[in-house]
Amino acid sequence: MNDSYGRNIHYLRISLTDRCNLRCVYCMPADMRFMPTAHLLQNDELVRLVRIAASVGFDRIRLTGGEPTIHPNLLEIVGGIAQISGIKEIAMTTNAVRLEKLAEPLARAGLKRVNISIDTLDAERFRKITRLGKIEQVWRGIVAAERAGLAPIKLNSVVVRGYNEDDIADLARLTLDHAWDMRFIEVMPLGSVADFQIASVVPVAEMRARIENVFGALEPLEWNGHDPARSYRLRGGRGTIGFISSVTAPFCEGCERMRLSSDGRLRLCLLRDDEVDLLTPLRAGASDEELRALIARGAQNKPWGHGLAQNEIAGSRVMSQIGG
Ligand code: SAM
Ligand code: SF4
Repeated sequence: MNDSYGRNIHYLRISLTDRCNLRCVYCMPADMRFMPTAHLLQNDELVRLVRIAASVGFDRIRLTGGEPTIHPNLLEIVGGIAQISGIKEIAMTTNAVRLEKLAEPLARAGLKRVNISIDTLDAERFRKITRLGKIEQVWRGIVAAERAGLAPIKLNSVVVRGYNEDDIADLARLTLDHAWDMRFIEVMPLGSVADFQIASVVPVAEMRARIENVFGALEPLEWNGHDPARSYRLRGGRGTIGFISSVTAPFCEGCERMRLSSDGRLRLCLLRDDEVDLLTPLRAGASDEELRALIARGAQNKPWGHGLAQNEIAGSRVMSQIGG
């Protein structure tokens, strides 16, 4: 399914819940209020929407949140999506706090890969950046994910000025011994925490320089034209190092994704507020055909890209309500 700019839209990122067991400073305010359960898609509603999305060409699914692993019906949802014809891959982005127990059953249910967020290796800085996290739980989650075959493991690190820019080289070092894809992400501004986020951006050029100052020049790897990360390797490294420069060098021309929020809105661009309400028509008895038309029209109306360079900040949601 092509949008009006000729991009092939086939990747759906689904926020299963806006709730989370952490409170990362770059993602949500400390006093975050969550949506009432009645406003959220139920299992059967969600699986139905994915089936309809698959029928218009979506073949890759990523489950995110909030924190997807705190959803009470996660395994049933993964199993339900895995059975939909046309879905080639189900992946998940998680903080890994609950992955030690869940990795194996998730793999059995049909999950293929995980991206795990880890912004520092230091226990005290991890607690500060997540407001309440314990780094040991994340490590146990990473080990469990590897053991369950949820590979290749990608690690996401949002670099936040004053919190973890000194940790970049230590995180990059992990790729010497592990076949992991370590990705460093610029903080994106959204909603009520935008002022803090704008003040916290560490540009990719600085991230790269911090790594090269320690390890020497990075070796560039080929780019596939739509991965948001530009990837490199440390000399002799087993894994890769990627940089996601949404703020300083946007990559909207390669964007093939749309998002479904836990309250049933199709969000056309991460950093713009344009959304299509699917929940209301779904609960009002819309047919599959009517919902299919709404999804297809949403894809056709996908905006070209965000307007961060023009200081246009999407205000309606914070990141945990969209899923990254
Ligand atoms: N809770 C899960 C996690 O943290 O991996 C999934 C949801 S989280 C919103 C998805 C991704 O978005 C994470 O990798 C997180 O680090 C990233 N993220 C959150 N806020 C961000 C921001 N303001 N800018 C860039 N990335 C952000
Ligand atoms: Fe939760 Fe993920 Fe947001 Fe951190 S980044 S608060 S783990 S949703």
